[in-house]
Amino acid sequence: MPTEKMTRENLPDGEVLCSYCNARCCRYFALQIDEPTTRHDFDNLRWYLLHGSFSVFVDDGAWYLMIPGDCKHILPDNRCGIYEIRPQICRDYTTDNCEYDNAGVYDQFFETPEQIYEYSQAVLPAAPRRKASDPISLPVLNL
Ligand code: SF4
Ligand code: SF4
Repeated sequence: MPTEKMTRENLPDGEVLCSYCNARCCRYFALQIDEPTTRHDFDNLRWYLLHGSFSVFVDDGAWYLMIPGDCKHILPDNRCGIYEIRPQICRDYTTDNCEYDNAGVYDQFFETPEQIYEYSQAVLPAAPRRKASDPISLPVLNL
């Protein structure tokens, strides 16, 4: 069984790169999301990342939510188990720019809610600071 040692440049004529891959493109999907611009937007992203192994990445200026998960039709040898009836999105995908030799390097990559929070703190304008003369409102207790 071939291993993922083959390089694109050395791929012999007539062979397919996928034969040397562990089906990397079949083990997650990514949904494009709106670019966050407000504290509320960033807080929603932080909420996504509180849910386990999701991540957020930015590529060519576009923001994506990455959802890990093996397609249930990957065969033990990493081939597609429903090749003849695989979804169109799988048919349209090619090895031209696939992640075979992409180490997951994106413009930005956020894996934890803390990373999103720190980034939002860096890019959003600071919240207005309270002046000493501002009235302080306290919660009212109904006893
Ligand atoms: S398209 Fe690329 S990432 Fe997907 S199985 Fe083939 S070589 Fe691997
Ligand atoms: S249907 Fe086949 S090609 Fe598409 S993600 Fe699943 S295993 Fe991969």
